[in-house]
Amino acid sequence: MLNIKCPNCGYRDESEFSCGGEAHIIRPGYEVVLSDKDWAEYLFMRHNPKGNFTERWFHAHGCRKWFNIVRNTVTNEIFEIYPTGSLPKSIEGKNAYKSNWRRLSEAEIKSLKK
Ligand SMILES: [Zn+2]
Repeated sequence: MLNIKCPNCGYRDESEFSCGGEAHIIRPGYEVVLSDKDWAEYLFMRHNPKGNFTERWFHAHGCRKWFNIVRNTVTNEIFEIYPTGSLPKSIEGKNAYKSNWRRLSEAEIKSLKK
């Protein structure tokens, strides 16, 4: 069982939260043209590493705010909790962000070019 420190409420039991999955997925705008393969990759493929991972969490039974966590999926150690819309600042978080295959996906590359 995780003990998660909500940025607004402090430490709470994992049962109060909902995990929203992978963080930092950029939604392609209407002007971004993607192949069917790249569109399917954006929609259905998720990063699922054995190790450090950036993920979104929602304090469903508390302040009802979203935030991001850098968590090791093997040990459940939490390295960093940071606001949505920002990037991780810890070494573990930066490496987890950079090593995600999504940074090299067509959906993200084309979305960031616009
Ligand atoms: Zn909260």
